[in-house]
Amino acid sequence: MTAGPVAPGLAEFRAAARRLASHLRPTPCTLSSALTKLAGVPVWLKHEHLQTTGAFKLRGATNAVLQLPEGVAGVTTASTGNHGRALAHAAKARGLNAVICMSRLVPENKRAAVTALGAEARIIGDSQDDALIEAERLVRDEGFALIPPFDHPHVIAGQATLGLEMADAVPDAASVLVPLSGGGLLAGVAAAMKARNPALQVIGISMERGAAMAESLKAGHPVDVHERATLADSLGGGIGLENRLTFSLVRGLLDEVILLNEAEIAAGIRHLYLREAQVVEGGGAVGVAALLAGKYRPEGPVVLPLTGANIDPALLDRIIAGQTPDLETE
Ligand SMILES: *Cc1c(COP(=O)(O)O)cnc(C)c1O
Repeated sequence: MTAGPVAPGLAEFRAAARRLASHLRPTPCTLSSALTKLAGVPVWLKHEHLQTTGAFKLRGATNAVLQLPEGVAGVTTASTGNHGRALAHAAKARGLNAVICMSRLVPENKRAAVTALGAEARIIGDSQDDALIEAERLVRDEGFALIPPFDHPHVIAGQATLGLEMADAVPDAASVLVPLSGGGLLAGVAAAMKARNPALQVIGISMERGAAMAESLKAGHPVDVHERATLADSLGGGIGLENRLTFSLVRGLLDEVILLNEAEIAAGIRHLYLREAQVVEGGGAVGVAALLAGKYRPEGPVVLPLTGANIDPALLDRIIAGQTPDLETE
């Protein structure tokens, strides 16, 4: 057996915060009066959707890119969403090439988002698997470094810096509601915040449609789930059958998982737009959605990271108008 990567701890999180300081936009943490009234306890919103590239993923990607050895030819990933954008931006900050591999099924606006950040969008094959094969070829044949979206110690340590900031902003937090997909965010945020307050409750929130981490926790090992179209698209995808870090970290740090249906997610997006004046994508709105749905009843001050802003404007319009678009049937 070969030794796997070692989980990062508080020293790595603090080093990541210093490394990232000049690369991040400071994001506010504000008390929501509407949600505080609803919940009966202080509800704090961490406005990380205002981060450069529109999501917290910049933290992990930049922390990983800045630690690559000299002489690497460039960076690559097969992730097309917020991690692809973040990696493109992080590579540019270090003057490195970035090649984001994607299948021809990926919509044009996602390709454009990556090329606008100065990276190459390499279109290959008909599936995410084909795209990953090309990314692995770039590593083998051309000296690129593959930066995965969550299962990497430097990525987890980068995401943990969001937890350090929330712990500083809300030192009396009793719980944190964390959007959960591959678990890099939850693993980092929970470790950082529990280091400060071991009694903190960490709630992971996913969608009912294809919650890979929740299914894996239930099974006791990483499992594949059928990927389905959902308003929380940034929470889709698997955790990797060969998951090395995030599955066991999340299992050890998570206190409860909540799953949301599409109407509940739409209500979260709608509340944030109409009552908080914030544009937040589905995956970033699930904490608010869980409170609104009454699926989590906090007993003390609670912090909700709003993790991303990248929602299709036409989709947002329909949700604001009161609809719950079913992306699976249209
Ligand atoms: C990636 C992402 C998440 C989930 O992060 P994981 O580390 O994969 O669990 C949550 N919200 C948004 C907006 C994301 O892009």
